[in-house]
Amino acid sequence: MGRHPGFTLHVARSAWTRLAASRDGVAIQGESGVAHQAPQARDTQRFHASGIDSQADHHPCTEKRMTTTRAYAAFDNTSPLRPFDAPRREARASDVTIDVLYCGICHSDLHQARNEWRNSKYPMVPGHEIVGRVVAVGDKVTKVKLGQLAGVGCMVDSCRECAACKRGLEQYCEKGNTQTYNDVDRDGKTPTYGGYSKRIVVEERFVLTIAEQTKLEAVAPLLCAGITTYSPLRHWKVGKGSRVGVVGLGGLGHMAVKIAVAMGAEVTLFSSSERKREDAKRLGVHDYVVSSDRAQMRKQRSRLDFVIDTVSAEHDIASVLATLRLDGTMVLVGAPENPLALPAFPLLMARRSIAGSGIGGIPETQEMLDFCVEHQLTADVEVVPIQQVNEAYERLLKADVRYRFVIDNATLV
Ligand SMILES: [Zn+2]
Ligand SMILES: [Zn+2]
Repeated sequence: MGRHPGFTLHVARSAWTRLAASRDGVAIQGESGVAHQAPQARDTQRFHASGIDSQADHHPCTEKRMTTTRAYAAFDNTSPLRPFDAPRREARASDVTIDVLYCGICHSDLHQARNEWRNSKYPMVPGHEIVGRVVAVGDKVTKVKLGQLAGVGCMVDSCRECAACKRGLEQYCEKGNTQTYNDVDRDGKTPTYGGYSKRIVVEERFVLTIAEQTKLEAVAPLLCAGITTYSPLRHWKVGKGSRVGVVGLGGLGHMAVKIAVAMGAEVTLFSSSERKREDAKRLGVHDYVVSSDRAQMRKQRSRLDFVIDTVSAEHDIASVLATLRLDGTMVLVGAPENPLALPAFPLLMARRSIAGSGIGGIPETQEMLDFCVEHQLTADVEVVPIQQVNEAYERLLKADVRYRFVIDNATLV
């Protein structure tokens, strides 16, 4: 299965959204930068500003209505990430200000930090698996209250008017969604900076509510790895008794397994080696198949209702397609750099389909978070201080993590 078994990278989303549509002519949303916060909110914000981010608030290079927040950034495609004071807009009436507690390290962070999708803008503050606490709300905010836990995933805005946005499928916004980092705000000029930072300001529509729980660090990866796998499982109506195949056991794959099992499915895992067999069983996998073993693959022929392929390295999809029953669907959530070979025969022999899926809309992301609370699901994580982010990237390249690194943002000083 390519370079790294279970290796998971998902979508070059910024790249494809940009290709899909130009931002020209998109109306600027929001309240033209004028803040109308409740007095209590202002006080809280001031309180915090005078604490952790006091330096930032008096940063000489900040523009009017901007503050900065302590962060880690990539400054080019080869140097290690290092400290950076990232600009943050002053909160608008519909904005939520969140102090980041934990931020997952997604493989796409590494790819974008290193400009591997050739669309990187520097300095770049990665991070789109964000869990934190609300420290200020604008006076139009109704979704969350001060002191509540909140989450931010891969998007911080969209056009809000197109057919996709109206259906709550902001990830497929026809005008391109605004990514949490390595993107430009809908004003067309302000860069977005992600969760490797102390604080983030996000329009409430793109804020998720998080239930109070103990292992918050293990909740952070749900905001990307969780929803990326939950959304296709729901869309293709996986449920009790479904036979689901998961290709690759990494950040995405391990969440696909957990969620599919919780939905009542019987899960078959396809991995490139024996290495993760025990782990897979612990996660609830019913059948573990080494994909290079022809005999094992043959046994799976025409068995499965649905396959979710999380692998982003080059790999053979034809043999996996053959495991689908009549009318079965295989969905790709990984994004290999080069096109995959797609022979027609395995498709037409059983009217099989191949599809793709990218993250999930905001309503569905909230549904996923609630589902995970109900089923007590979180990610398997290894918490690291921000100072070890570069080392974590190197280990990620070797698939040396089970299954997600998460930054403890308290270490960011
Ligand atoms: Zn991600
Ligand atoms: Zn839209």
